[in-house]
Amino acid sequence: MILTHFNPELPVTLACDASPYGLGAVISYRYPNGSDRPIAFASRSLAPAEKNYSQIDKEALGIIWGIKKFHSYLYGRKFKLITDHQPLIYIFNSEKGVSVTASARLQRYSLFLSGYEYEIEFRGTAKHANADSLSRLPLKSTEVDTSLKMVESFHIAQMEAIPVSNKQVQQETRNDRVLGLITTFTQDGWNTIHKDGEYAPYYSRRNELTVHQGCLMWGVRVIIPSKLRSQVLGQIHEGHLGVVKMKALARSFVWWPGIDQDIEKLAKACNGCQQNQNSPKGAPLNAWEWPSKPWDRVHIDFAGPFLGSMFLIMVDAHSKWPEVIKMKNITSESTINVLRTIFSRNGIPSRIVSDNGPQFTSQEFENFMQLNGI
Ligand SMILES: [Zn+2]
Repeated sequence: MILTHFNPELPVTLACDASPYGLGAVISYRYPNGSDRPIAFASRSLAPAEKNYSQIDKEALGIIWGIKKFHSYLYGRKFKLITDHQPLIYIFNSEKGVSVTASARLQRYSLFLSGYEYEIEFRGTAKHANADSLSRLPLKSTEVDTSLKMVESFHIAQMEAIPVSNKQVQQETRNDRVLGLITTFTQDGWNTIHKDGEYAPYYSRRNELTVHQGCLMWGVRVIIPSKLRSQVLGQIHEGHLGVVKMKALARSFVWWPGIDQDIEKLAKACNGCQQNQNSPKGAPLNAWEWPSKPWDRVHIDFAGPFLGSMFLIMVDAHSKWPEVIKMKNITSESTINVLRTIFSRNGIPSRIVSDNGPQFTSQEFENFMQLNGI
């Protein structure tokens, strides 16, 4: 076999194939007489997890890997994608767009492929010999695709965050009469017989449903089978966050038809949640600007009673210097006396900030402030 040099004038073909243990790809030029002459070859072994893929997923993986491998030859130009796997021709048909019923993995692959301009072409195994034999005699390396791994681990993280194990969800999804059917529809296609009644909430979301490790997902949320719902609800209820926060918490991880109503019912019947529901929103914090010099602005308040005494606390906003004075009583008169001693030591501040307690709003106190020019 003779390799040829790169020639941007000639049409490019990429042939990909997968065997039970490896992937192979050949990038070639198509000469005017119809013959393909290879530019480069590549092959790799399947990682253990990839060996468990269905054949169609393996073939699809081969295409994605081949395109990534030869990205610099393919990106931004038209090329022919050649596979010996007939179903992929329909699934990855760039003109039709991705079928919404394709598996989550194939959907992600299609999304990746949408970045390229290609026509997909079927070629029987006999003519597909190059890529086919490469996939059967792969190089030892596996170089698992990290971006796809990240997607997988995101789904796994979503499942780990919920209070039931993905094994449980998997099993109960299978056992659940409705979810079992929905799983089949999601994988094999929907029919209009099952679009009403208990199927309606799923039917209306059918384009957003995927199956991941035997669990149904709506977007990023795991669909909880009916048997596990009260358990998950119990977990969401922990902490008595009130109906709004519970809904928000649920929304990031789980879903089932009527989950919002279930949460509302739960919160209504619970005293703890009612209290949280009614507590007012915290006032927004008003940040004071930092004064440029010490003793420019001081904050004043009383603390206590502590061990039978009250304390006047004064803090300089610039240096955080505290003055803490034990007081027998907290009348305006004794407050003024204490301030006199502090001011005689530290000078008179430009501003005093208080909570407008009665000591700080009395006529006496205001006269004292005016006298000091504060
Ligand atoms: Zn509660």
